[in-house]
Amino acid sequence: MVEKVVNNTKLVLKVGDITEENVDAIVNAANSTLMGGGGVDGAIHAKGGSKILEECKKIRQTQYPEGLPTGEAVITTGGNLPAKYVIHTVGPICNGEWNQTFEKLLYNAYYNSLKLAKDKGLKSVAFPFISAGAYRCPKEKAAQTALKAIKDFIQKENSLQEIRIVLFSQPDFDIFARLIDKEWV
Ligand code: ADP
Repeated sequence: MVEKVVNNTKLVLKVGDITEENVDAIVNAANSTLMGGGGVDGAIHAKGGSKILEECKKIRQTQYPEGLPTGEAVITTGGNLPAKYVIHTVGPICNGEWNQTFEKLLYNAYYNSLKLAKDKGLKSVAFPFISAGAYRCPKEKAAQTALKAIKDFIQKENSLQEIRIVLFSQPDFDIFARLIDKEWV
C-alpha cells in the first residue's frame, strides 16, 4: 500500500478486489452499452446485483440511447456492494496502440468520474486500472494518464477526502508505485 496526500486529498494505491472496497463510490471500467461485460465490469454487476443493471438501462433509455460515449461517466446505486454508488465510465479501446486521442479519452474517463463524484458530494472513490484489461492500452501509458488526471483534479478541487486505485495484480501495482514518485511532485 502506498499513500500520498495532496491538497487535503489522500491518494491510496493498493492491490485488491474493487468490489470489496468500502468507499462512497467505486468506478466501473464499463463498455458503452452499460449492459455489463467481462473483467471488472462483470465482477461489479455479479456482486452488486440487478439494481445496477436496471439503473443502467434507464440511463440508456433517457440519457444515452446510443450508449455512453468514451470518456464520459454516469452514476448508479451500488446495489449489494459495500460501496454506495458505482460510477460507470468507458475507457478507450487501444488494442495495444497508443496515441493522443487515447490519452485524452482515458484522461477524461478518470477526470469526469471524479467530477461526478464531487458533484454528488461524495468523499471517497476507488478506481480500477481502466482500459488496462480487455481494452489493452499500454499499461505504463495508461497508469501515467490515470495519475495525471487524478493529480490535475486534486490540485483544482479539494472536496474529496480519499481516492484509491485498486490494482488487481502485484505487477500492476508496481507500475503505479514506480510512477507515483515521478508523477506526483
Ligand atoms: P477494460 O475493458 O477497461 O480494459 P477490464 O475489466 O478488462 O477493463 O480490465 C481493467 C482492469 O481491471 C484490469 O487491470 C483487470 O485486471 C482489473 N480487474 C478485473 N477484475 C477486477 C476486480 N474485481 N477488482 C479490481 N480490478 C479488477
